[in-house]
Amino acid sequence: MLEDKNPQRTSLEELGEFGLIDHLTKHFEIKHKSTVKGIGDDAAVLSSRSKQIVVTTDLLIEHVHFDLSYVPLKHLGYKSVMVNLSDVYAMNAQATQITISIAVSNRFPLEAIEELYSGIDTAARTYGIDVIGGDTTSSTTGLIISITAIGEVNEEDVVYRNGAQPNDLLVVTGDIGAAYMGLQVLEREKEVFKVNPGNQPDLEPYTYIIERQLKPEARKDIIELLQKLEVKPTSMIDISDGLSSEIIHLCKQSNVGVELYENKIPLDPQVISTCEEFNVDSTTIALNGGEDYELLMTISQEDFPKIKANPDLTVIGFITDKDRGMHLITRGEQAIPIIAKGWNAMKNEE
Ligand code: ADP
Ligand code: MG
Repeated sequence: MLEDKNPQRTSLEELGEFGLIDHLTKHFEIKHKSTVKGIGDDAAVLSSRSKQIVVTTDLLIEHVHFDLSYVPLKHLGYKSVMVNLSDVYAMNAQATQITISIAVSNRFPLEAIEELYSGIDTAARTYGIDVIGGDTTSSTTGLIISITAIGEVNEEDVVYRNGAQPNDLLVVTGDIGAAYMGLQVLEREKEVFKVNPGNQPDLEPYTYIIERQLKPEARKDIIELLQKLEVKPTSMIDISDGLSSEIIHLCKQSNVGVELYENKIPLDPQVISTCEEFNVDSTTIALNGGEDYELLMTISQEDFPKIKANPDLTVIGFITDKDRGMHLITRGEQAIPIIAKGWNAMKNEE
């Protein structure tokens, strides 16, 4: 589906491991004072000052987490960083450093790894992150990428999953379900391409949802916004697996229940139209889709006036006592238990 725009192929063997590391890492610049030593020694050195340090890791495996037949390597590099930064921001922390470990098979030429690193570099520059190390090794099968992100936060500002209180408001950032529908479109076009390689798909009606799948942005802006608005969420999580599983995580860890309002869930018009085209229910997609990398948080009702004018923050429900359970209140005012995966509108109609 993707043309090889880069016909030049330099084999990784030619370069050797150290040549490759040097080639990939020589452009990274250090921006943070807390980075005492970055790439080049046996270990990086950080100084912690008075802040708390947050650390998070993700592992991405070809054929499990990504499909290179429609994911450009540049986007993959960018997204691998976003996935990790999103976890740092979900702690209400600022991301400061990352390490990158890759395992590559010799099926990849140097030019392919350069593409991957150009996406990583763009992400690091855009989000102000130092790349401080990593590891490089060979793989007999596909590409494996593991990124560790480090961040810092004042002790009093850190937000956990377990702080939600009854009567708090449940708030989500941006809109949800788009990344999943973008993936459905890409998967469909891949199948069409297999049958008819000459066919150029018209992806124009899907630009937003495809971008949400291929090039998600972590919500650094929201952490800055919350600080500006002087709102500290009582609990927070990032939406990687779908709204319903993240709501369940927050409620279980906080020992509370929730009422989620179907008619409040923010959906982009492209999600609604694509759901219609694929004949799937948009609420089901929003609840179970995943990969949105938006933030889900609870805030005290006192803070509502500070957030209510903001189009990036939508109140979608409120927290109850644990014994009231976790329910979706549908447009028809039915209460349906929220379950982790596979909430099915059809089932309920039986
Ligand atoms: P060691 O053998 O001690 O693990 P390496 O030769 O693997 O050291 O790495 C040398 C330096 O390059 C280290 O600072 C390491 O963190 C960094 N590094 C190695 N691979 C990568 C990579 N893929 N991306 C970024 N930095 C890397
Ligand atoms: Mg090493």
